[in-house]
Amino acid sequence: EWVYLNGEFKPYDEACLSVEDRGFLFADGIYEVIYVHRGRAFRMEDHLARLQRSAAAVRLELPRPAADLEAAAGALTARNGLEAEEATVYLELTRGSAPRQHAFPAQPRPTLLMIARKAHRPEPEKLERGVSVITVPDERWHWCHVKSVGLLPNVLAKQQAVESGAFEAVFVRDGRVTEGSSTNLFAVFDGVLWTHPADRWILGGVTRSVVLELAGRLEITVREEAVEASRLGRADELFLTGTTTTVLPVVRVDGRAVGSGEPGPLTRRLQEAYLQELEA
Ligand code: PLP
Repeated sequence: EWVYLNGEFKPYDEACLSVEDRGFLFADGIYEVIYVHRGRAFRMEDHLARLQRSAAAVRLELPRPAADLEAAAGALTARNGLEAEEATVYLELTRGSAPRQHAFPAQPRPTLLMIARKAHRPEPEKLERGVSVITVPDERWHWCHVKSVGLLPNVLAKQQAVESGAFEAVFVRDGRVTEGSSTNLFAVFDGVLWTHPADRWILGGVTRSVVLELAGRLEITVREEAVEASRLGRADELFLTGTTTTVLPVVRVDGRAVGSGEPGPLTRRLQEAYLQELEA
């Protein structure tokens, strides 16, 4: 197994990071997760654009041109024998290694890492029958639109979900639903598709924007507006989106059935359309 580190391909066991890498010490870094279907990265341009936005927000510079990263991601999946499979590429960029001090090093040398793995979509049974979620207070910072590696609140929320037998934890801030710990959330009320606007309170998912595009094509009315947490349980349909999650129906919230308790018709149509798009 190979990884990509600062412009070189290295065997997994030989790739080394400094103990003072700022990604490790301060979570001073950003990341992307990209889906690669049979050697082709899905919506790579969207991921690279978001990477550039995250980098600019935290004053990091991409150490090489975006086109090089795309080529490296492709080469890495091939080197790992994943070109005929479904893979994910995890890309992380940190402010590199320097003696531990909060302020930026005078001459930062960023760390750029990529790991390619076989993709794990949710099990067919989950995609078919749906999953349950719990709601938890959104205790993250105010820059949720930045794909920062500082994911401790997300990790704690997801762990709480797992320990309560749920698939995902959905954040609630100021009485409104924002998103899942690593997913975006959509709701259907009276045939209208609702999702939180892509502002600083959520990570605007690439999958989220593909789903909005598909909703347009399917002539589904969309409202990019936050759903009040008190209404969530009364939605006709709910689903989660994410790069590895794809489009996943939600059939229970905090132990109560959503709608009929089964994945709804709009969810099904968008799920089908999304999988077609992914495999096109
Ligand atoms: N929201 C959060 C907090 C995430 O971490 C992620 C992905 O990891 C998403 C949403 C979904 O984004 P995408 O569809 O680009 O994978």
